[in-house]
Amino acid sequence: MSALAGIGMTSQRTRERMIARLREQGIKDEVVLAAMLAVPRHIFVEEALASRAYEDVALPIGLNQTISQPYVVARMTELLRGGKNLGRVLEIGTGCGYQTSVLSKVASEVFSIERIAPLLTKAKNHFRELKLRNVKVKHGDGNDGLPEIAPFDGIIVTAGATHLPEELLRQLAVGGRMVIPVGSAEQMLTLVERLPGEYRKTGLEAVKFVPLLSGAV
Ligand code: SAH
Repeated sequence: MSALAGIGMTSQRTRERMIARLREQGIKDEVVLAAMLAVPRHIFVEEALASRAYEDVALPIGLNQTISQPYVVARMTELLRGGKNLGRVLEIGTGCGYQTSVLSKVASEVFSIERIAPLLTKAKNHFRELKLRNVKVKHGDGNDGLPEIAPFDGIIVTAGATHLPEELLRQLAVGGRMVIPVGSAEQMLTLVERLPGEYRKTGLEAVKFVPLLSGAV
């Protein structure tokens, strides 16, 4: 059996249990739940950890980075959608590419930026394996965004920012939504809605992310 199909702890049934738990945790957006049922999370973690891939924990992906816990991925995707279909989306912090893959199921186009080159190489392999055709990645500093592609209907930052990055705010479409953890050791998951003439900020819940850094390595 292929690694993609999965056996035992990595099977479809295990994924269904994860979806049931997400519902209990308050995730209501069926489009998000369907996307997370469709993406095999275990292929994104080291083989030794694959049996833990569906637990609600963040796991190491090497180079001091982590794959976000399922609840946080679901919550951020639900907030980004705000109940509406997404066109063009920008993600900062590709990491292993799990969140990116979930986004690829709920948006028509996904652009993702990662500053650590070897992580991006692995993520690209996963996108190929999953035959995701609407994902484009860039190696670089996500703080700069992608001015040549902007504006984005949604911007999701999957690393903890100390403040709202100005350039990313500029690249958000009017009517668009940004979801970003803001703070230092612990962050407040923050929703920024760009309205005509103002940015409306809402703090939602405490989260813990690795820091948003500058520059690419
Ligand atoms: N989205 C991932 C989580 C990745 S962890 C998931 O699905 O699990 C955060 C990632 O953000 C790390 O890979 C880190 O290297 C990256 N990162 C941190 N600062 C960055 C920056 N300025 N630009 C791009 N990527 C950044």
